[in-house]
Amino acid sequence: MPDCIFCKIIRKDIPTELIYESEGFIVIKDISPQAPVHLLIITKEHIPSVDELAKRHQQLVGDMVLQARELAKIHSLQNGYKLVVNCGPDGGQVVPHLHIHMLGGKKLSGLT
Ligand code: 5GP
Ligand code: ZN
Repeated sequence: MPDCIFCKIIRKDIPTELIYESEGFIVIKDISPQAPVHLLIITKEHIPSVDELAKRHQQLVGDMVLQARELAKIHSLQNGYKLVVNCGPDGGQVVPHLHIHMLGGKKLSGLT
């Protein structure tokens, strides 16, 4: 997807510090952090949203969540953190490329 901002980051058209990279996904810092730690775990494949996930993505999504656990240790989030996946306009998704928000470093509350 040439115009997708996350695809541009993955292609390195936009230079961005990578916190972590695996075969299937990258982790970067959110440009507009909503918490002291705000990371984005982004699939390398352009999957528009959770709605477009297929059975073949099962391992990938599992690996992304397991990596969040590792990132929590690295960022000293032993007191907890929040993983958020927005889906579609009503879900508050702005960038139509699958990603998990990882937020922590302060007491978070609320789901909306
Ligand atoms: P969404 O609302 O789609 O779940 O979240 C998209 C997130 O991507 C937002 O939190 C926004 O701040 C972040 N974002 C948008 N453009 C960029 C960018 O160019 N670089 C980085 N690092 N984050 C971005
Ligand atoms: Zn994309």
